[in-house]
Amino acid sequence: MLFRDSLEVLCDKSNIFCVILYLMKNKTIKPYYDVIIVGSGPAGLGAAFKIAQNSKSSILLLEKKKISSGGLRNDCKQNYTFPVGFPLEHWNKEEAQKLLKEVGMHLNPKIQKRFNIEKYTKRASKIGVEILSIDQAHVGTDKSSQLISSLIQKLVALHVEIALQTEVKSIQKEKKEIILSDGSTVSFKNLILAVGRADYDWLQKQMDILGVAYNDNIVDIGIRVETKEEHYPIVKDYYDPKILFPNKVRTFCTNSGCAHVVREKYKGYYSVNGHSLSKENEPNGLVNFALLKTIRLTEPVVSGQQFGKILGQMVMQLSGGSVIMQRVGDFRLGSRSKEETFNSDLYDFKPTLKSAVAADLSLSMPSKILRDIWKSLKMLDTIIPGVLHPSTILYYPEIKTYSNKPKFLDNHFAVKKGYYIIGDAAGTSRGITAAWASGIRAAKGIL
Ligand SMILES: Cc1cc2nc3c(=O)[nH]c(=O)nc-3n(C[C@H](O)[C@H](O)[C@H](O)COP(=O)(O)OP(=O)(O)OC[C@H]3O[C@@H](n4cnc5c(N)ncnc54)[C@H](O)[C@@H]3O)c2cc1C
Repeated sequence: MLFRDSLEVLCDKSNIFCVILYLMKNKTIKPYYDVIIVGSGPAGLGAAFKIAQNSKSSILLLEKKKISSGGLRNDCKQNYTFPVGFPLEHWNKEEAQKLLKEVGMHLNPKIQKRFNIEKYTKRASKIGVEILSIDQAHVGTDKSSQLISSLIQKLVALHVEIALQTEVKSIQKEKKEIILSDGSTVSFKNLILAVGRADYDWLQKQMDILGVAYNDNIVDIGIRVETKEEHYPIVKDYYDPKILFPNKVRTFCTNSGCAHVVREKYKGYYSVNGHSLSKENEPNGLVNFALLKTIRLTEPVVSGQQFGKILGQMVMQLSGGSVIMQRVGDFRLGSRSKEETFNSDLYDFKPTLKSAVAADLSLSMPSKILRDIWKSLKMLDTIIPGVLHPSTILYYPEIKTYSNKPKFLDNHFAVKKGYYIIGDAAGTSRGITAAWASGIRAAKGIL
């Protein structure tokens, strides 16, 4: 098996920071490594750096795409305050904060200042809503590939062997081998699976092969709100306000500046998401953020991933294969939004997600979720008056599946001797910085 016979050159618009992702042209993947890491997201990178900097182990990092995907590539907001991104069942504050310092040493965040949020927190506390104060840094989608490329270059300098566009098809438990998509095999002493959430079913198959018990009973379902910045001015003072409402509803992933709502393809459905470009880009005057409700399922339906998929597929049926959107003005009147009136009169900005279909949220969303989301929106409008302007757009569905939760053997996320599952794939993180931290923890287990 040859490393990709290509030099990937990623340049930003100005051509100043031309970055070479160079993949050790024509070198062979060896038949054995002390450590193989599958996935080059933050969890995989965190593990790779920690092991490479503290041992002489041979390390192979495999990534099926050209460049790591997920949030490191998209928007790349980094949260540096516990508990954002850290599932409480796996983390305590002291350990998370210690590892966040280590994460920061690799990602060099420029923490954004927060101003004047007291007036919002006071209003919030009067109605039982909490606004968390979070240290955050924002890279922007246009700049993230530079960050990833520089991290990859540093790993190469540390003698980590990296194969991009190289997919792991399966694990052979007895032989401690992985099978790559071209049929070749590589054996290992330690295997770290850091494959992210998108490939949950692939991971389930591998856990079945390994005999690892798991469940996935939690899912976040909600909407993405898009409005003019003047209707949600808090973002001028606090880039990504984390607001917690009753009934497990929260804001998530706020984007402003040059902000866009996007559609992400999952197996069988689309979910909306949002991102923004770095400050160097012309602002478009819009803000978007998710409002999500966490659902914990019990018998007889226990798969959050399946539940999310069913809801996503229902929207696909109703919209003719896309996601839907509705103006708040129409929603309040109980009428569906229509293409011909979507941009008239008070509806004075165009949706950034052109492929969304004007429709009716209440026809598609389970009523318990809709009730709690709408109640939270009204509370938000009390704290930040204006967000429920008739022109505000509600996109649906935004679905965040929680990953499979494997049964771990220790606090290094080992699932079997020599096998570790980390990052969002294993529910050990829900964000870039925590994913990186979980990589460090697995690495410590191996070291
Ligand atoms: C569009 C988007 C925007 C986001 N924005 C933010 C944000 O701004 N801030 C934030 O904190 N979080 C954000 N997130 C969440 C964040 O991306 C995740 O929490 C984080 O990336 C998880 O890291 P990970 O390493 O566990 O998985 P991932 O980052 O998902 O990385 C997993 C990698 O494994 C690779 N892979 C999977 N299967 C295989 C295989 N079989 N063989 C080889 N490679 C494989 C995938 O291609 C992928 O690159 C965002 C997520 C998305 C989807």
